[in-house]
Amino acid sequence: MASFPEKISSLYIDGEWQEALSGKTQSVFNPATLEKITDVSFGEKKETQKAIQSASSAFSEWSSMTARERSQILYRAYQLMAEDADRLADMLTTEQGKPLKEAKGEIQSAASFLLWYAEEANRLYGEWIPSSKRGKRLLVIPQPVGVVAAITPWNFPSSMITRKVAPALAAGCTVVLKPAPETPLSAIEIVKIFEKAGLPKGVLNLVTGDAKAIGETLLSDKNVRLITFTGSTEVGKYLMRESAQHVKKLSLELGGHAPIVVFEDADLDLAADLALASKFRNSGQTCICANRLFVQESVHQDFSEKLLERVKSLKIGYGKDEGTDIGPLINKQALEKVESHLQDAVSKGAKVLYGGSKGECGLQGYFFKPTVLANVNNDMRVMYEETFGPVIPVQTFQTEDEAIERANDTDYGLASYIFTENLNRAYRVMEKLEYGIVGVNDVLPATAEAPFGGVKQSGIGKEGGHHGIHEFVEMKYVSIKIKE
Ligand code: NAP
Repeated sequence: MASFPEKISSLYIDGEWQEALSGKTQSVFNPATLEKITDVSFGEKKETQKAIQSASSAFSEWSSMTARERSQILYRAYQLMAEDADRLADMLTTEQGKPLKEAKGEIQSAASFLLWYAEEANRLYGEWIPSSKRGKRLLVIPQPVGVVAAITPWNFPSSMITRKVAPALAAGCTVVLKPAPETPLSAIEIVKIFEKAGLPKGVLNLVTGDAKAIGETLLSDKNVRLITFTGSTEVGKYLMRESAQHVKKLSLELGGHAPIVVFEDADLDLAADLALASKFRNSGQTCICANRLFVQESVHQDFSEKLLERVKSLKIGYGKDEGTDIGPLINKQALEKVESHLQDAVSKGAKVLYGGSKGECGLQGYFFKPTVLANVNNDMRVMYEETFGPVIPVQTFQTEDEAIERANDTDYGLASYIFTENLNRAYRVMEKLEYGIVGVNDVLPATAEAPFGGVKQSGIGKEGGHHGIHEFVEMKYVSIKIKE
């Protein structure tokens, strides 16, 4: 394991790394071994105010630079991240726990957002509208919203940051970033990459510490024009309510409750392989991972056997050990939530087909066995709440209409998946699913060039694609009267 200093000054404000004014720190732990990795600074209100001030001061200069100039810094950041990918992935596994192969995939994904928005910076076009009146010229020009507050979670501690920060910077915004306390090291590394890439002082600021104080300060400051948040629906609703006081723009990537629907005409081996990949990636701590599995009655037996065979082959362990498929959950609360979902389901009649208890692998961390449940019903929490762990409830259905109705029976609307070899059915069902993302015979839809985001209580706005940069601009309409 790479060695870390005992303490890291993790506040980056106006181009300077600094400690909290109070001197307070917060410890970061390895969730697999429960060993302390290091302490980082615990910023509060004053540090957040300074960071907002710094971002406000830097805005005029940064937004006046040409798109090409901003693009070159983003491109350099992309190169630096790609060059350092192995070390960054190792660090990510240390603080987050996911298997190294997944951490490497995340760093590639994080870097891909830097590359994509280095390119998109140059394509932020406006409009020329043909006027209905003589002597008038009508233009629409995109302009950066101003200071952006980016609040990110621990489950993808690198890619959730670059997915926000890259389009914000590309559009000409300046940023105050608040990462999750479990995974500040990945955030620090990303800021260092930008520093090395030549980002001017104050354009990107990092505040680790007290979420409540940082959040309140970001929300109550009218200079912060947009809050871009990835995390739970509960916190998203709070940010939405509190943003009303200054009518801030919002971009929210919230929780999910993804269904996988396996039709009788599916390639069952593919469906079983991908159901496994969707559910157990990152130990089930993925906003788009399968939370409910619906299988058509006629193929249920066959599919369940294939799925169970695969689940039994998964290896729990330390993320850096060769062959590990399932790492630990992020913390004690996450483990307790999974256990309580399981107890609730079992007490209401669910049958544990496999797993159902803490994972044993010789380490102290928060491991839970990959678990498959049958005999589930809609009164069980696993069927209406995000479990965020390696537990999959399986239900059967008879008809296509029934499958659609049950898949849509949730307040969430992030990702959904269907497995069928029938093109007509794929179109019919895809169009009726009330989700921001549909995977057809695919469970890994996230990619830099496509718009990612949910509907209903899964969020507002899109990240990724050419759509993602539009979250960070206001379209200014200009009406010009000329003498002809
Ligand atoms: P969370 O508890 O909502 O926290 C997310 C971030 O918000 C953390 O940095 C957290 O800091 C911060 N936060 C919490 N309360 C705050 C407040 N009052 N003011 C300002 N910041 C505040 O979510 P999580 O448990 O870390 O992440 C898991 C959730 O994220 C799941 O629901 C998952 O589905 C969702 N997610 C969604 C997407 C997507 O693209 N839709 C992607 C990934 C994850 P503290 O921890 O210090 O409170």
